[in-house]
Amino acid sequence: MKIRSPIVSVLGHVDHGKTTLLDFIRGSAIAQKEAGGITQHIGATEIPMEVIENICGAFLNKLEIKETLPGLFFIDTPGHEAFTTLRKRGGALADLAILMVDLNEGFKPQTYEALNILKMFKTPFVVAANKMDKIYGWQTHQGESFAQTFKKQPANVQSALDNRVYELVGILHQEGFESERFDRVENFARQVSIIPVSAKSGEGIAELLTMLLGLAQQYLQEQLQIETDAPARGTILEVKEEIGLGTTIDAVIYDGIIRKKDTIVLTTPTEVITTKIRSLLKPRALEEIREAKKRFQKVDEVVAAAGIKIVAPNIDHVMSGSPLRVVQDNLDQVKEEVLHEIEDIKVDTDEMGVIVKADTLGSLEALVNMLQEMEVPIRAADIGDVSRRDVVDASIVAQEDDLHGVIIAFNVKILPSAAEEIKNTDLKIFQANVIYQLTEDYQEWIQAAEERRKKEWFDAIIKPGKIRIIPKLIFRQSKPAIAGIEVLGGQVKKGAGLVREDGQRVGSVESMQNKGDNLPSISKGQKVAMAIKDGVFGRNLEEGDVLYVDIPENHYKILETEMKSDLSEDEIDILQETVDIKRKENPGWGIY
Ligand code: GDP
Repeated sequence: MKIRSPIVSVLGHVDHGKTTLLDFIRGSAIAQKEAGGITQHIGATEIPMEVIENICGAFLNKLEIKETLPGLFFIDTPGHEAFTTLRKRGGALADLAILMVDLNEGFKPQTYEALNILKMFKTPFVVAANKMDKIYGWQTHQGESFAQTFKKQPANVQSALDNRVYELVGILHQEGFESERFDRVENFARQVSIIPVSAKSGEGIAELLTMLLGLAQQYLQEQLQIETDAPARGTILEVKEEIGLGTTIDAVIYDGIIRKKDTIVLTTPTEVITTKIRSLLKPRALEEIREAKKRFQKVDEVVAAAGIKIVAPNIDHVMSGSPLRVVQDNLDQVKEEVLHEIEDIKVDTDEMGVIVKADTLGSLEALVNMLQEMEVPIRAADIGDVSRRDVVDASIVAQEDDLHGVIIAFNVKILPSAAEEIKNTDLKIFQANVIYQLTEDYQEWIQAAEERRKKEWFDAIIKPGKIRIIPKLIFRQSKPAIAGIEVLGGQVKKGAGLVREDGQRVGSVESMQNKGDNLPSISKGQKVAMAIKDGVFGRNLEEGDVLYVDIPENHYKILETEMKSDLSEDEIDILQETVDIKRKENPGWGIY
C-alpha cells in the first residue's frame, strides 16, 4: 500500500487567473530545485511535499498529513472542461479543487458552472479569491503569506478586501454553500474556505496550499490509499498525433501500476477495445530535451498518481474522458465493467423526453445530472455530434410533447445530414459550450413557452365587462338590435353574452364598429356601435340600460382561483357585481 498525491484541479471563469496560479506554483517549485523540484507528468505537475513545506512554512505545522502525503498532483489544463473530461467511475477524477474567482469581478457564468459541477461531483474545494493586489491602494509584498501581507495594508484597503470577500460569501450562500474567509472558518466540514490571493505576486498562496492539504487530511485519507501492484486504472485525457510516434493517448493514472507491454482496455464511441502498450512515455526535463532533442523519455512502469503518454496500435478512435484499465487475466470482467460504466451514463429509452448530445463522457454525465435535477425527462443521451437520427427522434417527441421535443447539444457539431433534416422541421436545438448556459437557456425557453400558453389560455377565458346603452343612439330596434354603447369597465369581446342588472339574458355581441372598423374587442372608455343578436328594444332592452358580460360559471371559477392576480381592481369589482347578479337568480352560483 502507498498513499498517493491528491489530484487537484483549478476551475473558474476565463481570465480569473487559473493559469497564472498554476504557473506561480510551478515556478516557485522549479526555483527550489535543491528541495526536490517538481516532477513533470504528461498533463500534470506534481509538487513534492518538501516544496510545499518551503512555501507554506509554519502553517503546515498543525497538519499531520504532511508526514504521509507525497505532494499535490495538479492537472495542468485548468477549467471545468478538463475537470469534467477527467472523470472516473462515480465521480470526478480530481480529489480536490480550487475555484478561482476574481475578487474584483465576482461570480461569472463559468464560476457558477464550475460550482455546480463541484456540487454535483461532491468534490471538496476551496475558493481562491484572486487578484487582491488589484484592490485600490494594495501594497504588494511578493510571495508573502496572506497573514503577513494583510497586516501591512492600510485599514481602508483591508476593509475593501473584506467587503469583496463578503460578497462572495453572499453568493455562495445563495448557491447552497456556507463559507467564510479561511482564518474565520469555525467548522471546516460545514464551511468552504475563501482564501484571498494574488496568483501574480504569490501573496496568500501559502495559505491556499495549506487549506488544500487540510481538506486532504479531512476527506481523503482512505481515498488516497492505493495498492502499488494492482492493475492500473486511469482516465484518457487526450488522444493526439505526435510527430514520429503516430497516435498516442495521454492518460492520468489514479490507481495501481501500469507497465510497458501491458494489455489495456479502452473505449471508442462504438465499442470497448483492447490493445497492447508499445511504449510508455513521460516528459523529459527541459535541460535534457536540449541534449536528447526528444521531448519524451521511455519508462518501464509508473505508479499512480501519474500522467503518462501511451503509444499503442488501434487507438485512433479512443474517446477523451473514457476509462483506461490494465488487464491481467480478467479481460472479460474488465470489459464488462467498462461497458457498464459507459452505459450508466448514456440514456436510451422510448420515452417522451429531450435528446442530449455531448463531447465527452464527463460532460454528458454532468449535463444528464443537471437535467435530472431539473426533473427534465431524457429520451436519449449519448456522445457525439448531432445526427440525422437525433433530429428524427426529437421530432417524434415534439409531435406529442413540444416542450421536450428538443435537442440539447454540448460542445458538439450538427452533422450536415442533420442540418438538412432540421430545415424541414421547426425543431429547437440548444447549443453551447457552457453546461450551465445550456440548461439555463432551455429553462428560459420552457418558461417563455409556458407563459405563452398561459396567455393563450387566459385570453380564451371570458372576462368581466360592463357597458351602458347611450340614450338617443339607437340605430336599429331588432334583428339585430344596434345601438351606441359605452364601456364602463372591463372588456367586451365579440361573441360575449350580455345580461341585464336583473339577471335576464338579452343576447350576445354580434359585432362592434367604430368609424367603420370592425373591432374584435373593446375596453373601458371606448364608445362603439354594437349589434346585439336577439336584443329587441322595447322588449328586453331600453335606452340607458347597463349590461354585463355573461360569465359562464366554469370561467368564473378559473378567474376566481387562478387569475385573480391578473385582473385589475376595476375588473375585480365588475366580477363581483356580475356574481351578485347571477346569485339573485341562483344563490348557489359559483359556489363550490
Ligand atoms: P485564466 O483564463 O483563468 O487561466 O486566467 P490567466 O491566468 O490567463 O489570467 C488572466 C489575466 O489576469 C492575465 O493577464 C494575468 O496576468 C492576470 N492575472 C492573473 N492573476 C492575477 C493577479 O493575482 N493579479 C493581477 N494583477 N493580475 C492577475
